[in-house]
Amino acid sequence: MNYKEKALEAVVYFNNYWKLNKLNTPSIIPNIITSRQDVAQIQTFLTSQHFNAGKIDGLWGEQTDSAYNMFIEKKKTGKIINFRTDTTNNVPYLKTPYPKYKDIESFYGKLEDINKNIVTVTLPYKHILAWNTRQTVTKTSCHKKISDVYTTILEETLLTYGLDEIHKLGLDLFGGGFISPPRKMRNGSEVSTHSYGIAFDYNPENNQLHWGRDKAVFATPEYADWMDIWSKHGTINIGETKNYDWQHFQFSTF
Ligand SMILES: [Zn+2]
Repeated sequence: MNYKEKALEAVVYFNNYWKLNKLNTPSIIPNIITSRQDVAQIQTFLTSQHFNAGKIDGLWGEQTDSAYNMFIEKKKTGKIINFRTDTTNNVPYLKTPYPKYKDIESFYGKLEDINKNIVTVTLPYKHILAWNTRQTVTKTSCHKKISDVYTTILEETLLTYGLDEIHKLGLDLFGGGFISPPRKMRNGSEVSTHSYGIAFDYNPENNQLHWGRDKAVFATPEYADWMDIWSKHGTINIGETKNYDWQHFQFSTF
């Protein structure tokens, strides 16, 4: 089906959908010619539902098509599909050499002894504290078992993006690593992986805890290389596996 046919299908679909759900048809979009109004109204509606339909221009293109497909899939299955079709959600999860949460202490040591296993690493590029952007970070602490691979991940990020792009994309916005004393997970009773020195948060403002892949920037194609660098080294991103907390990378599974 080409885009023209897809747009026609979508117009029929949404006219029904709005009627069935007793929703008002989105109002006429100013500055858009009449023949493009139907698509512009669909774009407005999809955007209001947090599906990024791109520019509201009344033209059916790749972005609108992808937003429409995601919307339909969500209605059918209740799930939001990953538009990064080059990767399968759970591949990094299956490939990881790192332990499940229940085995975390046999792999990384007991929580009460954790300070013995914590080392300082020099970051390959300067980080900025996400919650106080006037403060730069050149060193951080983490578990000695993952310190080398963590440094490698950042070195590869530097090689892949370069400093300017890193800054532009907010890959230097540090949300935190090792946390002591131990902290409970924000949504549960287990101790956070941050307390073991095996988790790192990046760009938290644009990847907020409750945001899914419809909002988190790490779910967008611009960050595909960044996400791949982490997963290639066996880390788990909570967003990629559970679709929340996209800021969070950890060296353990669930
Ligand atoms: Zn975290």
